[in-house]
Amino acid sequence: MITFEELGISKEIVLALVDLGFEVPMPVQEKVIPLLLGEKTDIVALAQTGTGKTAAYGLPLIQQIDTDNQLPQALILCPTRELCVQIAGDLNDFAKYIDDLHVLPVYGGSSYDVQIKALKRGVQIVVATPGRLIDLMHRKAIKLRDVRSVVLDEADEMLNMGFLDSINDILAEVPENRSTLLFSATMPREVAVIAKNYMKNPVEITIGNRNSGAENIKHVYYTVHARDKYTALKRIVDFYPSIYGIVFCRTRIDTQEIADKLIGDGYNAEALHGDLSQVQRDSVMQKFRIRHVQLLVATDVAARGLDVRKTDQ
Ligand code: AMP
Repeated sequence: MITFEELGISKEIVLALVDLGFEVPMPVQEKVIPLLLGEKTDIVALAQTGTGKTAAYGLPLIQQIDTDNQLPQALILCPTRELCVQIAGDLNDFAKYIDDLHVLPVYGGSSYDVQIKALKRGVQIVVATPGRLIDLMHRKAIKLRDVRSVVLDEADEMLNMGFLDSINDILAEVPENRSTLLFSATMPREVAVIAKNYMKNPVEITIGNRNSGAENIKHVYYTVHARDKYTALKRIVDFYPSIYGIVFCRTRIDTQEIADKLIGDGYNAEALHGDLSQVQRDSVMQKFRIRHVQLLVATDVAARGLDVRKTDQ
């Protein structure tokens, strides 16, 4: 079985992976890491959440950062604030034995001042939601001239959320001789168009089946009348008292109502949606991660890419 060292990953990063318990590369890592450590390549990868894609692009990006240069050299775009914080956290874990490497999550709802100060001090990897990055570009607070790699993570979801214009504006400001990596769970036409417009002869990689759900998830559905949905939900929760999961709702109003009802009925639940302030969202996510909250009732702000382990304590 191949190891991270054999894929070309440096010692100090491998040490961090050992701390994280990563023993062998996952398939997406085995494919993507050597390509990124080799000659400049563009990559389109169809990969679901949970396949290990953050390390697949993150490890080579980290390894190629020049820590003497204080300007951003890698830019990762992703759809939600939660994902932005998670990716930045993962990259910091991978880079924990590398001195002077700074990763900055840039997302709406957090303080401009803090982000601008951090950028002034020096940041080599920026993980951003497109809207806030555009704001910082308009404020001339971020210099993108040294960016050599751009990652579009969860590209389909970014387009679903209406970020196409922002992505176009951002890519127009990044040097052309960069490599561009696009990760997407699905490949609708709009994503294919981005790949065509911004990428040069991309290598295409598919992990798992196209458009399929994550493999380690068992899907079950119950058919109930709309008026009985809440009762059905309660029955499921009552049947599995130690249930730990996310209840997705379509609208913010439904989300809040169902969370309120559950809480009123004595269940351990919280709502997560875009009407909450960033501080509230961060606090709810944190409580869910450490299992102080058992049921997270959420809109699709939480739909993609969040990785909460049963063992996160
Ligand atoms: P991602 O798809 O990047 O969100 O990763 C999914 C999960 O797999 C995360 O919890 C990672 O920490 C974990 N992971 C990624 N690569 C490895 C690896 N090589 N060995 C074990 N776990 C991994």
